Amino acid sequence: MNIISPWMTPELEGFRDAVHRFVNAEIVPHQDAWKKQQHVDRGLWNKAGEMGMLLADIPESYGGSGGTFAHQCVVFEELSHAGDTAFGLHVHAIVAHYLLNQGTEAQKQKYLPKLASGEMVAAIAMTEPGAGSDLKGVRTTALKDGDAYVLNGSKTFISNGNLADLIVVVAKTEPEAGAKGVSLMLLETRNCEGFRVGRILEKLGQKGQDTCELFFDNVRMPLDSVLGGVEGKGFAQLMNELPYERTIIGVAGVASIERALQLTIDYTRERKAFGQPLIEMQNTRFVLAEVKTEATVARIFIDRCIVDMMEGRMDTVLASMAKYWISDLQCALIDKCLQLFGGYGYMLEYPIAQMYADARVQRIYGGANEIMKEIISRSL
Ligand SMILES: Cc1cc2nc3c(=O)[nH]c(=O)nc-3n(C[C@H](O)[C@H](O)[C@H](O)COP(=O)(O)OP(=O)(O)OC[C@H]3O[C@@H](n4cnc5c(N)ncnc54)[C@H](O)[C@@H]3O)c2cc1C
Repeated sequence: MNIISPWMTPELEGFRDAVHRFVNAEIVPHQDAWKKQQHVDRGLWNKAGEMGMLLADIPESYGGSGGTFAHQCVVFEELSHAGDTAFGLHVHAIVAHYLLNQGTEAQKQKYLPKLASGEMVAAIAMTEPGAGSDLKGVRTTALKDGDAYVLNGSKTFISNGNLADLIVVVAKTEPEAGAKGVSLMLLETRNCEGFRVGRILEKLGQKGQDTCELFFDNVRMPLDSVLGGVEGKGFAQLMNELPYERTIIGVAGVASIERALQLTIDYTRERKAFGQPLIEMQNTRFVLAEVKTEATVARIFIDRCIVDMMEGRMDTVLASMAKYWISDLQCALIDKCLQLFGGYGYMLEYPIAQMYADARVQRIYGGANEIMKEIISRSL
């Protein structure tokens, strides 16, 4: 892609080089093994913490690297450019922002340095077997009992579920109060009685990522486990933080589109049919011209979103547009690219096939794209 992002600086280029080297040394060689075991090695988190890429946009006073949203985007882009979908850094960074923006000072001091170093891995558990899009229907409860909250219920499809040490659990602290009775509970999982991780789920793609079921059976949690210290604020906290999650889904999506385009250009230059490289055929050039055009439009759009995030003016509607439009586009363009690989595009040993499978969930998680359209339509 020939576009220079307006947020790019020489300092960020240097950071990108360092992240690129890290990803190629510590992630790419292990991708096949992690797919088989369905999770990354725990040590990756500590290495990435040492490198300073876990919480790149969290202030140094909380152990982060003190960069901007652009720094964190550089990390996400490098992971996507390397075809990584195993390392659950996106979810980890999302949780860090819940803590930074919604946590009490004590919660920030307690958890953010550990998330930055990789000493703790984070997850966020909203979805339940009976409640995904309609989060008001969650049935997990955290009810006060003397000097503790008692957590009961179950969650499903939780990214980082197997390795997480800290889980933000969406639970009802006042079940009769509807949305006003929802709180976000900070659950430490180490030696936690009554907490159980179910199986790592078999997925269509993103096979190296530990997506799990979680079970809470009378888990006792200290009274200071409510994010922000005040019960009933869970829904408002989710609404405030979801734009970050949705924007980074867009960031990863655009980087994947760029990778698919480059892989397809390379392949069609090499592969010959009817005595000429595929790229010499008009259809191939036209398809690639279309993909490049749409990739460029997506890049310009996401760059604008990144700048808006950096300047603190990103809103829910724009973030929802980025999430839905880019993830739809990602699936459509990877499909077009795959077609140009012929039968090889259907073979998992070819990255384009893997990308096709990995991309599909982008339209579902972070809020299904239909929910994004609901949100956008409310602004009409
Ligand atoms: C790989 C993976 C990782 C995930 N990681 C996490 C995680 O870390 N934490 C977490 O909490 N969750 C996670 N999820 C769950 C994800 O966020 C949910 O799957 C998603 O929100 C949809 O919920 P659901 O699956 O219950 O679908 P449902 O709510 O049952 O919806 C099914 C479909 O119905 C349609 N639909 C629903 N509501 C509406 C509406 N109002 N209008 C129009 N159409 C509608 C949509 O097409 C939707 O896709 C993950 C899921 C996957 C697959």
